[in-house]
Amino acid sequence: MTKENFVVVGASLAGLRAVEAARKAGFEGAVTLIGAEEHLPYDRPPLSKAYLEQLPDGAGPASTIFRTEEVLREELGVELELGAPATSLDTARKQVLVGGRAVSYDALVIATGADARTLPGAEGLSGVHTLRTLDDAIAIRRALEAGARTVVVGAGFIGSEVAAGARKRGLDVTILEALPTPLVRAVGDRMGAACAALHERNGTPLRCGVGVTGLQGDGRVERVLLSDGTAIEADLVVVGIGAIPATGWLESSGLRLDNGVVCDATLWTGVDGVYAAGDVARWHNPLFDRLMRLEHWTSAAEQGALAARNALDPESARQYLTVPYFWSDWYDSRIQFVGVPTADEIRVVDGDLDADERWVALYREGDRLAGALTLNGQNVIMKYRGLLMKKAGWDEALAFAASRRTSPVSSS
Ligand code: FAD
Repeated sequence: MTKENFVVVGASLAGLRAVEAARKAGFEGAVTLIGAEEHLPYDRPPLSKAYLEQLPDGAGPASTIFRTEEVLREELGVELELGAPATSLDTARKQVLVGGRAVSYDALVIATGADARTLPGAEGLSGVHTLRTLDDAIAIRRALEAGARTVVVGAGFIGSEVAAGARKRGLDVTILEALPTPLVRAVGDRMGAACAALHERNGTPLRCGVGVTGLQGDGRVERVLLSDGTAIEADLVVVGIGAIPATGWLESSGLRLDNGVVCDATLWTGVDGVYAAGDVARWHNPLFDRLMRLEHWTSAAEQGALAARNALDPESARQYLTVPYFWSDWYDSRIQFVGVPTADEIRVVDGDLDADERWVALYREGDRLAGALTLNGQNVIMKYRGLLMKKAGWDEALAFAASRRTSPVSSS
């Protein structure tokens, strides 16, 4: 059946790539992009990095908007419905409801991403922020400019980037982490500790194994109370404790929701015409033969484009198989990871975890390479992604690592 109405819910990276791909594929019907935020689609990674940096002479940060309204409306012919969230999905009538209004589709891509997890007890206190949206970044930047004593709750990637930004400005900043070691789920125990050492080297206090029991302040946060009975004075609290897939609006849709919108390898939800992409999608990745939900820029962009093509031409649907990839910038270093962190062994194959500004660690699952983590390893990380893509064996990966080694290995 020829499609006439292509609708995308979620006007961010995956949603934008979906509408672009539809036009690139030659789709000439109506394209509607529905977004909860007022803003045009914008890029999020800079929000915890360059956007927070101090600029000379009070200059403002660069815009992270992807495309102008003119390009979206006129060149791509997209009907923009911004500033109002979709409230439900009726798959029988093939309608997305935005408040009381129905938008009909015959092909739909769900790209509603994820919402930041919040800290209970923060309601009604100003100066406490999560960092997911441009509005969050504006508020945090303003507080940093005012010289806020900063507490970051959660030593994950976003929290660590914010802490690095505050530190670079010379502010008083402390990171709190409830677990004994940060980033365990993302990169494993030992490598989480290796990443966390960057904070120590840059003079940022990181307190692990301590929870937040309360926030105090008269309208505005003044103090963070900790599970060890101590307290830290704060003007700004940034909460970076993860994200939750934005599926609330789909509760009554009948779609399978389980830590995201569950999809097959082609990003199809199993319901006629309905596909999902980006941080909200939990799809079967054939390369690793498991369900995955990633919160990574690269996969969100690629999934958005493929979900659109598959939704518009399901007969020729292609599978989305990928080697997960993300990066994170702390201080003047770049951390990059490819693959999966579940491993039987993690071996440092280049550099010294304790001293060097550059190291490479490989993850083994059985006799296969499963992942690679690098600090300032921009020149090799994509080579490891290539090895993972072709399901390289462990010995092949070690041989490659030996050929690219730049400094003695030490991982004590
Ligand atoms: P999102 O970007 O989450 O967008 C979803 C959109 O849908 C939002 O605009 C939301 O308002 C909207 N929406 C939600 N519900 C509804 C509804 N009911 N109706 C209509 N619209 C709705 N990744 C990396 O790989 N490297 C990095 O360094 C990195 N840094 C990051 C830094 C920050 C601060 C953040 C927040 C993310 C970072 N990421 C990074 C992750 C990356 O930005 C995300 O993977 C990517 O934005 C996901 O895109 P998405 O379109 O799937 O979802």
